[in-house]
Amino acid sequence: MALLFAADPAAAGIRVAFVPAAPRPGDVSLVVVQGINNAATVEGAVAGRALAFFPYANGAAALAGIDFETHPGRYTWKIAVVDGGRAPQSLTGRLTVKPRRFGVERLTLPQGMVDLHHETIRRADLEAERLRTVFAAVTRERLWRGRFTAPISAPGDGTGFGVRRILNGRPRSPHGGLDYAAERGTAVVAVNSGRVVLVADFFFPGRLVVIDHGLGLHTAYFHLDQISVAQDDLVDRGQTIGLVGSTGRATGPHLHVSAAVGAARIDPAALLGLDARD
Ligand SMILES: [Zn+2]
Repeated sequence: MALLFAADPAAAGIRVAFVPAAPRPGDVSLVVVQGINNAATVEGAVAGRALAFFPYANGAAALAGIDFETHPGRYTWKIAVVDGGRAPQSLTGRLTVKPRRFGVERLTLPQGMVDLHHETIRRADLEAERLRTVFAAVTRERLWRGRFTAPISAPGDGTGFGVRRILNGRPRSPHGGLDYAAERGTAVVAVNSGRVVLVADFFFPGRLVVIDHGLGLHTAYFHLDQISVAQDDLVDRGQTIGLVGSTGRATGPHLHVSAAVGAARIDPAALLGLDARD
């Protein structure tokens, strides 16, 4: 854990730590602020993206999602602590984003499967926009707690996050989720508690569920065979939300899971490794 102390003497005693200290593209860091009063309000941003703080371990914490297309380098963070009538105490520093190498997958498919009708393209674009809008919503209540659980009880980790796909020689958008191989009908569970904010049947994702975990964190589950939750349902960590299938554009039964903190698209596996102790 790297501790970054304030250069501003007015902010003396306030400690800010990023865990992990040097994330990679697609990672999520827990930003822990300590040495503040319980009643203090904390605000901040990393690389211009706002952080949503919540009370944590006698201080405050927030999730800093590093979008998976972020270039490695050093990014400025800023944090302001407002405590009653005192002048705001501000701290700033630099967060190093380490390089990460993503795989490349070359696929050859009959051109007839690749070329989509313009109305299908239009539909898929509107659906992608709808998903972006749902993911961008930041609800003020934190619904997740503690550790995250795997979305499926199948052997093996998910694969394919961030893979650059080249289809019939042409680059496509990188794969923004994690794929879990599993048999049709395998139970899919919520990785943490939250509220179901979208149940839909979209062209590429098929039957899908999006869960809002609060404070900008969302997870999505694609290609489901059946869905056992409804819009606005509150779900617990580990609760079954549907069954693995191959709806939408899927070569066979599998679960595709994606996650985002605000607009930052992150690796769901990074959530499983998040060390939040509450
Ligand atoms: Zn996938």
